[in-house]
Amino acid sequence: MKLKDETYFCKTCFKEIKEISLHSILYKRKYICRACFQNLTPVFCNFKIAGKSALAIYEYTDFIKEKIYLLKGAGDIEIATIFLDYYRWYIKLKYLGYYIIGGPSSPSKINERGFEQNEMIFNFFNIKVHHHFEKVIDFKQSDLKKEERNKIIDKLKLVDIENILRHRKILLVDDIFTTGSTIQAMIKLLENIGKFKIKVLVLSIVKKHTT
Ligand SMILES: [Zn+2]
Repeated sequence: MKLKDETYFCKTCFKEIKEISLHSILYKRKYICRACFQNLTPVFCNFKIAGKSALAIYEYTDFIKEKIYLLKGAGDIEIATIFLDYYRWYIKLKYLGYYIIGGPSSPSKINERGFEQNEMIFNFFNIKVHHHFEKVIDFKQSDLKKEERNKIIDKLKLVDIENILRHRKILLVDDIFTTGSTIQAMIKLLENIGKFKIKVLVLSIVKKHTT
């Protein structure tokens, strides 16, 4: 078997991928180099938030932080492909039949970036993320004081409620789980409008939750 004479570049460090492993031949995964792949070790951390089952795929390490920043800050859309590539089928099957709703976004941020990061990360794998949470006031959770975080619910609003009410099983997805106050507010807002089976999936979790 002759390999095609093509050059592949790692999508996260942009270095040429030289070692063609058996794994990459079998799975045609040439997105990231071995070094970056080793940095992308999932933790699959199960936890509860507001009584709901939640799953975090990665720990929020410096590596993940940098990659999410590249995606969100610099608009490097290629980066989005690396996060879920190996787990797409696992995720699809685990949450089969769930209506997926992304974390809150501010309309102005989407205009500025031209895309929404959760949408990018999940849509690449044909996992459709719907938007129903909007920020009434633009805020960054990390900038809020502890007592203000409890009031996040006042800073969010649900849009297009009719479409949510068509579903009974809802999966909330977000990129980073820090204090959980945003997810808690999202759950509360949903429970205010109806009775749903709610689960949570986050790309990464800040370490204090995993220890
Ligand atoms: Zn790399």
